[in-house]
Amino acid sequence: MTRKRLATVWLGGCSGCHMSFLDIDERLLELTELVDFVYSPLVDRKDFPDEVDIALVEGSVSSEHDLEKIRLIREHTHTLVSLGDCAVTGNVPSLRNSVGAESVLRRAYLDPQLLNPQLPGSDVPRLLAVVRPVHSVVKVDVFVPGCPPSADTIFFVLSELLAGRQPDLSNKTRFGA
Ligand code: SF4
Repeated sequence: MTRKRLATVWLGGCSGCHMSFLDIDERLLELTELVDFVYSPLVDRKDFPDEVDIALVEGSVSSEHDLEKIRLIREHTHTLVSLGDCAVTGNVPSLRNSVGAESVLRRAYLDPQLLNPQLPGSDVPRLLAVVRPVHSVVKVDVFVPGCPPSADTIFFVLSELLAGRQPDLSNKTRFGA
Protein backbone atom coordinates (compact mmCIF):
# COMPACT_ATOMS: atom_id res chain seq x y z
CA MET A 1 0.00 0.00 0.00
CA THR A 2 1.32 3.43 -0.95
CA ARG A 3 2.10 5.59 2.01
CA LYS A 4 -0.18 8.62 2.27
CA ARG A 5 1.01 12.14 2.89
CA LEU A 6 -0.67 13.52 6.03
CA ALA A 7 -0.71 17.13 7.22
CA THR A 8 -2.20 18.65 10.34
CA VAL A 9 -2.86 22.37 10.46
CA TRP A 10 -3.56 24.81 13.29
CA LEU A 11 -5.54 27.93 12.36
CA GLY A 12 -7.60 29.92 14.90
CA GLY A 13 -7.96 27.33 17.66
CA CYS A 14 -6.62 26.44 21.08
CA SER A 15 -4.61 23.36 19.97
CA GLY A 16 -7.02 21.14 21.91
CA CYS A 17 -7.87 19.25 18.72
CA HIS A 18 -4.17 18.51 18.21
CA MET A 19 -3.96 17.37 21.84
CA SER A 20 -6.85 15.00 21.14
CA PHE A 21 -5.04 13.77 18.02
CA LEU A 22 -2.01 12.96 20.18
CA ASP A 23 -4.33 11.15 22.58
CA ILE A 24 -4.64 8.32 20.08
CA ASP A 25 -1.46 7.25 21.90
CA GLU A 26 0.15 4.00 20.72
CA ARG A 27 -2.07 3.94 17.66
CA LEU A 28 0.17 6.75 16.40
CA LEU A 29 2.69 3.97 15.75
CA GLU A 30 0.13 2.20 13.53
CA LEU A 31 -0.33 5.45 11.67
CA THR A 32 3.38 5.89 11.08
CA GLU A 33 3.29 2.57 9.18
CA LEU A 34 0.76 4.07 6.78
CA VAL A 35 1.52 7.77 6.48
CA ASP A 36 4.29 10.29 6.26
CA PHE A 37 3.74 13.38 8.39
CA VAL A 38 4.67 16.00 5.83
CA TYR A 39 3.45 19.10 7.68
CA SER A 40 2.23 19.77 11.21
CA PRO A 41 2.84 21.93 14.28
CA LEU A 42 4.33 18.68 15.58
CA VAL A 43 7.11 18.64 12.98
CA ASP A 44 9.55 21.37 12.06
CA ARG A 45 8.44 22.37 8.57
CA LYS A 46 7.40 25.91 7.71
CA ASP A 47 6.12 25.68 4.12
CA PHE A 48 3.02 23.69 3.20
CA PRO A 49 4.08 20.96 0.73
CA ASP A 50 2.56 19.89 -2.59
CA GLU A 51 0.43 16.77 -3.07
CA VAL A 52 -0.88 16.22 0.44
CA ASP A 53 -3.36 13.34 0.61
CA ILE A 54 -5.11 14.25 3.86
CA ALA A 55 -5.03 17.50 5.84
CA LEU A 56 -6.61 17.73 9.29
CA VAL A 57 -7.45 21.39 9.83
CA GLU A 58 -8.04 22.64 13.38
CA GLY A 59 -9.43 26.10 14.06
CA SER A 60 -11.45 28.83 12.45
CA VAL A 61 -10.38 31.27 9.78
CA SER A 62 -9.71 34.30 11.98
CA SER A 63 -6.93 36.33 10.38
CA GLU A 64 -5.62 37.30 6.98
CA HIS A 65 -2.85 34.78 7.54
CA ASP A 66 -5.40 32.00 8.18
CA LEU A 67 -7.25 32.95 5.00
CA GLU A 68 -4.13 32.86 2.86
CA LYS A 69 -3.02 29.60 4.46
CA ILE A 70 -6.29 27.68 4.08
CA ARG A 71 -6.50 28.64 0.40
CA LEU A 72 -2.97 27.33 -0.12
CA ILE A 73 -3.78 24.15 1.80
CA ARG A 74 -6.89 23.55 -0.29
CA GLU A 75 -4.93 23.97 -3.47
CA HIS A 76 -2.42 21.30 -2.45
CA THR A 77 -4.64 18.80 -0.59
CA HIS A 78 -6.77 15.93 -1.87
CA THR A 79 -8.94 15.40 1.23
CA LEU A 80 -9.43 18.33 3.56
CA VAL A 81 -10.87 17.48 6.99
CA SER A 82 -12.49 20.20 9.07
CA LEU A 83 -11.43 19.03 12.54
CA GLY A 84 -13.33 20.23 15.59
CA ASP A 85 -16.03 22.78 16.27
CA CYS A 86 -13.86 25.84 15.62
CA ALA A 87 -13.18 24.63 12.09
CA VAL A 88 -16.74 23.34 11.56
CA THR A 89 -18.74 26.24 13.03
CA GLY A 90 -16.37 29.01 14.17
CA ASN A 91 -17.11 28.02 17.79
CA VAL A 92 -15.21 29.95 20.49
CA PRO A 93 -13.22 32.30 18.22
CA SER A 94 -16.43 33.41 16.50
CA LEU A 95 -17.79 34.76 19.80
CA ARG A 96 -16.04 37.99 18.90
CA ASN A 97 -18.20 38.40 15.79
CA SER A 98 -20.90 40.09 17.81
CA VAL A 99 -18.59 42.83 19.12
CA GLY A 100 -16.19 43.26 16.22
CA ALA A 101 -12.45 42.72 15.78
CA GLU A 102 -11.49 46.30 16.67
CA SER A 103 -13.24 46.11 20.00
CA VAL A 104 -11.48 42.85 20.86
CA LEU A 105 -8.09 44.27 19.91
CA ARG A 106 -8.62 47.36 22.02
CA ARG A 107 -9.70 45.29 24.99
CA ALA A 108 -6.71 42.97 24.71
CA TYR A 109 -3.95 45.45 23.89
CA LEU A 110 -5.04 48.85 25.21
CA ASP A 111 -6.05 47.92 28.74
CA PRO A 112 -4.62 50.79 30.86
CA GLN A 113 -3.41 48.27 33.40
CA LEU A 114 -0.93 46.86 30.87
CA LEU A 115 2.70 47.99 31.25
CA ASN A 116 2.95 49.31 27.69
CA PRO A 117 -0.48 49.29 26.05
CA GLN A 118 -0.28 49.45 22.26
CA LEU A 119 -1.97 47.86 19.28
CA PRO A 120 0.07 45.18 17.47
CA GLY A 121 2.10 46.27 14.44
CA SER A 122 2.24 44.89 10.94
CA ASP A 123 4.31 41.89 12.11
CA VAL A 124 1.11 40.41 13.62
CA PRO A 125 -1.47 39.11 11.09
CA ARG A 126 -4.51 41.37 10.82
CA LEU A 127 -7.75 39.94 12.19
CA LEU A 128 -10.58 39.42 9.74
CA ALA A 129 -13.66 41.47 10.50
CA VAL A 130 -15.60 38.23 10.94
CA VAL A 131 -14.35 34.81 12.10
CA ARG A 132 -15.45 32.13 9.64
CA PRO A 133 -15.70 28.33 9.62
CA VAL A 134 -13.39 26.64 7.15
CA HIS A 135 -16.11 25.50 4.72
CA SER A 136 -17.24 29.10 4.20
CA VAL A 137 -13.86 29.82 2.62
CA VAL A 138 -12.84 26.59 0.86
CA LYS A 139 -14.42 23.24 -0.01
CA VAL A 140 -14.32 20.76 2.88
CA ASP A 141 -14.45 17.00 2.25
CA VAL A 142 -15.03 15.67 5.78
CA PHE A 143 -16.55 17.37 8.83
CA VAL A 144 -15.54 16.15 12.29
CA PRO A 145 -17.39 18.07 15.02
CA GLY A 146 -16.53 18.06 18.71
CA CYS A 147 -14.64 20.34 21.08
CA PRO A 148 -12.38 18.55 20.74
CA PRO A 149 -13.37 15.45 18.77
CA SER A 150 -12.34 12.41 20.79
CA ALA A 151 -9.15 10.54 19.98
CA ASP A 152 -11.24 7.52 18.97
CA THR A 153 -13.20 9.66 16.52
CA ILE A 154 -10.04 11.11 14.99
CA PHE A 155 -8.48 7.66 14.66
CA PHE A 156 -11.67 6.30 13.10
CA VAL A 157 -11.74 9.13 10.55
CA LEU A 158 -8.10 8.62 9.61
CA SER A 159 -8.48 4.84 9.42
CA GLU A 160 -11.46 5.13 7.11
CA LEU A 161 -9.78 7.67 4.85
CA LEU A 162 -6.62 5.57 4.66
CA ALA A 163 -8.80 2.58 3.71
CA GLY A 164 -10.28 4.64 0.90
CA ARG A 165 -13.67 5.08 2.53
CA GLN A 166 -15.65 8.21 3.41
CA PRO A 167 -16.00 8.18 7.23
CA ASP A 168 -19.58 7.78 8.46
CA LEU A 169 -19.68 9.58 11.78
CA SER A 170 -23.40 9.10 12.39
CA ASN A 171 -22.69 6.41 15.01
CA LYS A 172 -19.09 7.12 15.80
CA THR A 173 -18.80 10.72 16.96
CA ARG A 174 -18.09 10.96 20.68
CA PHE A 175 -18.04 14.44 22.06
CA GLY A 176 -15.68 15.61 24.77
CA ALA A 177 -12.40 14.12 25.89
S1 SF4 B 1 -12.78 22.83 18.70
FE1 SF4 B 1 -12.43 23.09 20.92
S2 SF4 B 1 -10.55 21.94 21.33
FE2 SF4 B 1 -10.62 22.29 19.09
S3 SF4 B 1 -9.48 24.20 18.76
FE3 SF4 B 1 -11.63 24.76 19.02
S4 SF4 B 1 -11.85 25.25 21.23
FE4 SF4 B 1 -9.94 24.08 20.97
